[in-house]
Amino acid sequence: MPRPIRASINLEALRHNYALARSKAGQAKAYAVIKANAYGHGLNHVIQALGPIADGFALLDLVEARALRAAGLTQPIVLLEGFFEPSDLTDIVALGLTPTVHSEAQLTMLERAALGSPIDVMLKINSGMNRLGFAGDALGAVLARLRALAWVRSITLMTHFARADDEAGIAPQMARFRASTKGLDLPVSLANSAALLRFPEAAGQVVRPGIMLYGASPMPDLHSAEALGLKPVMTLNSEIIGVQSLSVGERVGYGGTFEAPGPMRIGVVACGYADGYPRHAPTGTPILVGGRRTRTLGRVSMDMLACDLTHLDEAGVGSPVTLWGDGLAADEVANAAGTISYELFCALAARVPVRVLKG
Ligand SMILES: *Cc1c(COP(=O)(O)O)cnc(C)c1O
Repeated sequence: MPRPIRASINLEALRHNYALARSKAGQAKAYAVIKANAYGHGLNHVIQALGPIADGFALLDLVEARALRAAGLTQPIVLLEGFFEPSDLTDIVALGLTPTVHSEAQLTMLERAALGSPIDVMLKINSGMNRLGFAGDALGAVLARLRALAWVRSITLMTHFARADDEAGIAPQMARFRASTKGLDLPVSLANSAALLRFPEAAGQVVRPGIMLYGASPMPDLHSAEALGLKPVMTLNSEIIGVQSLSVGERVGYGGTFEAPGPMRIGVVACGYADGYPRHAPTGTPILVGGRRTRTLGRVSMDMLACDLTHLDEAGVGSPVTLWGDGLAADEVANAAGTISYELFCALAARVPVRVLKG
């Protein structure tokens, strides 16, 4: 008998969320961002759902790109960090990938490569995030060098927003991007999920939605996923495997960080940080037992955590538990734990069995 924990991946919800992203994108192509094993959702499941409908994909790893081509997908595949050594370019040509070019080192590799077949590239401009990309004032020289290469077929200008999800918005970076690309008649790719949802007018020719496809909000403080019309794709479920009755003053779990203020019934859930549940989720993090909302108690252990059953008389050993997903937004759990849904999803452990719901 396996432990009762499992993650369900709802492919219908994924398709729904992609369709929503596409509808916001207007004329722009929507490339599904599926890096990091599709944000922990399982690359193969996501290929199954989005393979037939997505305009393109964006990810980081050649291994992941190869899996997409092996599955028969023919759409553009963007490598968001480009390539790391000259031999990667051989694979990029063979697989027909679209690398990002963000650094002098990459540009030099591309110049020396003398590729036999042409590739499309995304030229990344640093408009203020200060992570990857060329400075705006270097753009003219970089473009001239790229255009001199017979094996560069098309160039899309790309940048990434640091604050599309907060009050600062995209205006300062847009202003710098516009200034440095003025007069250039090239396609652009700007928007992540937050920018697409909040500033669809900045969609450009290619948008890059990630988190919204998985049904979480890129800005849960401003708009819940539900209010945005998104449906959760991953639901993490388990069961109560033990019940304890506490008297006043008794403590729960490692470190005894929770002390019962009075008589209580608590449930022990088969889910811990080795399953990907955040260890730093404090007492009070929301959790569903038998579909009813309650709270976690004390520290999360490796394989278990405790929750309050005091007002849930019908709950006991075997009661179903939802850690996040359907009925309990991952954003709420993430917020209580001081993190973001992205991290919860990516941290889902390999030991958790996955069930795919085709819808
Ligand atoms: C991850 C990533 C995205 C997607 O961001 P979301 O916030 O998940 O929508 C888009 N563009 C780049 C360059 C990224 O690295």
